[in-house]
Amino acid sequence: MVKRFFLWFVMCALVSGSGFALVERENEWKYKKYNHIDFAGLAAEYWGLPNSRVENIKKASLLPDLNQRGLSNLFNHQWSHAYFLNAEGEVTWGDAHEDFNDNLIGPTGDRASEAWEEQSAAKFYEENNQQKGDWYLGYAVHYIVDASILVHCSSSYQLNWDLVTHHLRFESWIHDNFTEGHNFRALMAADKEYYEVSEPMEALHKAAMGASYWTSDLGRSIWDQYRNESYPSGVGSGSKELVQLVSQMMVNSLR
Ligand SMILES: [Zn+2]
Repeated sequence: MVKRFFLWFVMCALVSGSGFALVERENEWKYKKYNHIDFAGLAAEYWGLPNSRVENIKKASLLPDLNQRGLSNLFNHQWSHAYFLNAEGEVTWGDAHEDFNDNLIGPTGDRASEAWEEQSAAKFYEENNQQKGDWYLGYAVHYIVDASILVHCSSSYQLNWDLVTHHLRFESWIHDNFTEGHNFRALMAADKEYYEVSEPMEALHKAAMGASYWTSDLGRSIWDQYRNESYPSGVGSGSKELVQLVSQMMVNSLR
């Protein structure tokens, strides 16, 4: 607890050190909104669900960022949206895997549930409560989307402090180019592959392994490229090569 609180404190100090950071934070909020709505919405559309169910899933997928903000009882809620891996593929910070698992199927082992109100999609589907089951499904999807974006799954205190200091800038750049500029959403919508998930925690681990700076060529290439281009921000900025790499990460996340 002390370690994670300390790291959170350092991260906050770094990203909130200037007025500029405040503007970025606002953009980050926008990105999160659009990001989560579109990932979950695109997935639900693929499943061929009626519009009312798609909307229910979309809305729920946004809520973890609203429900888990800031600090309470010295517990940093960002912890639940991170799954930082080191070069050995070990988790060094965050428990997004538990939040994903517990909202989906309930806690495994003797852990207390990390899920919203300690309920799960599986429980409601078993009770034939499709509306609440879908809601929890959307809520759970949030965490695997977070864990498959490289700034949420790359330990950043070893060598690459810019993973922390430019975290929000990177997410804002994706947001700015989500439906205009490079239009990542259209690139994602063109992909029709998906993975079956039978073990939620394992699935989230694999998703993070495929995007982390420390465990994947893709994650490393993206961040090195982003750094080499001096951290582009704004609509249409960044090279073709960078866009191609980031598109691959977004498609993987959607799958
Ligand atoms: Zn999140």
